[in-house]
Amino acid sequence: MKTDICIVGGGPAGAVLALQLARLDVDVTLLESAQSYERSFRGESMQPDTVGIFHELGIAETLLAHGCVETYRMEISERRRLLLAIDYSDAPYRHKFVMDIPQPVLLEALQARIADHANARVLRGAACTGLLERDGRVSGVSYRGHGKSGEIESRVVIGADGRYSRVREMSKLPYTKLPMNRDVLWFKVPVPEGWSNHTAHIMLKGARHLILLPTYPDLFRAGVNIAKNSFAGQKRQGIDAFYTLVDGIDPEFGSHVRRHVANWRDIHLLDIFTINMPSWSRDGLLLIGDAAHTVTPLLGQGVNLAIQDSMELAPMLANALCQDRLGSVLFAEFQAKRQPDIEFVMKVQMRQERLLCAESSWAQFVRRTNYAALHRLRFVQKRISDRIAYKRQRAMLHFDECTNNSGMALECGFTQTSTVEKQCGVNRS
Ligand SMILES: Cc1cc2nc3c(=O)[nH]c(=O)nc-3n(C[C@H](O)[C@H](O)[C@H](O)COP(=O)(O)OP(=O)(O)OC[C@H]3O[C@@H](n4cnc5c(N)ncnc54)[C@H](O)[C@@H]3O)c2cc1C
Repeated sequence: MKTDICIVGGGPAGAVLALQLARLDVDVTLLESAQSYERSFRGESMQPDTVGIFHELGIAETLLAHGCVETYRMEISERRRLLLAIDYSDAPYRHKFVMDIPQPVLLEALQARIADHANARVLRGAACTGLLERDGRVSGVSYRGHGKSGEIESRVVIGADGRYSRVREMSKLPYTKLPMNRDVLWFKVPVPEGWSNHTAHIMLKGARHLILLPTYPDLFRAGVNIAKNSFAGQKRQGIDAFYTLVDGIDPEFGSHVRRHVANWRDIHLLDIFTINMPSWSRDGLLLIGDAAHTVTPLLGQGVNLAIQDSMELAPMLANALCQDRLGSVLFAEFQAKRQPDIEFVMKVQMRQERLLCAESSWAQFVRRTNYAALHRLRFVQKRISDRIAYKRQRAMLHFDECTNNSGMALECGFTQTSTVEKQCGVNRS
């Protein structure tokens, strides 16, 4: 089989890229190893900017029709004493809430839109098993699925196969894996009576913390930190060891957990690490999303960075295809555009990692003081959230102000022929 762009991995990064390329009339093939997307513990928290992107992609209505949970506020507390509250609803933008939507629903909605385009195809249940090379350049992939093997020749291979990327390994590109000091145990419980399912919480006690994220339909996705690589030992001690862990942070929430989490099968381990790569590409191959830059789950950024990669990359690839300019210069340009945002997120996350896991009473005092100061300094809160939650919408507002445009320019999606499309000879009017 031959295609212009072959994408390995149909997670948020790969599926959004495939859809955007399909809309730009690019011939694209998406390979996804899983037959079904039913996986309950994945990134489900979509930042306000990503909600705007769903409108651009034309899938917002499908997601809203399915049902989602909107989070308007985040609180950090210690022994139930509020240290920091951040209100998303204060922001001067159109989309000002974090949307929780099950990842399978998001991915199926994207695939349904991809299926509208004859120039795009999705191979489900097909796992990439190797990279094809010609004259030292990646020229396609080999894959296996449904008991058969095959090869796809392409002008570019995009590795979007997630945090344990096989394409990254096969590319031999150098990378650094930086394990954090903690792992996280994830589980789901109903929102307790009297609690709001529109507020996310981080509850602190010493070096332990409990993260509670409002989750569709009326649940909290909860994460509790444990020391790195201690999961097997915890499990051997029996489920009571887990209950004691949660009780130690908040006894009242602990008794709620006892009622709703029956055994270890309800609990999922997330190994926390980051991946840093000096270069995301080699000739004929580019990595995006978690494959290029795995971040920690703090502040719910992974899905959002992955989707932003694809929104940025699609027009660049379409343009370069028209101009026969696909290659390392383009890939380096893409990385240079995305790297500052990713580095900023990683920097904020590393700082939070240190604060949340503070061991000594001095470090915990510093943490308390930090959060209390941030609680009062609204302009600092705004500076951070403008960068990690509202960057896109802020840029659109700025564009509107400069052009006296009454609506948000990018929300027009592709109803008007874009510059890239004009260059490629596509006319949608
Ligand atoms: C437990 C957990 C909780 C998380 N919580 C959040 C959160 O609240 N908010 C947030 O923003 N992020 C969160 N994340 C991170 C988020 O899920 C990822 O950052 C995001 O999904 C990355 O998207 P991606 O498309 O790059 O990779 P992935 O979502 O990992 O998608 C990769 C895809 O590639 C496929 N694949 C793998 N190997 C192959 C192969 N050889 N051939 C073909 N296909 C292959 C996989 O099946 C998968 O569908 C969480 C992650 C986990 C594990």
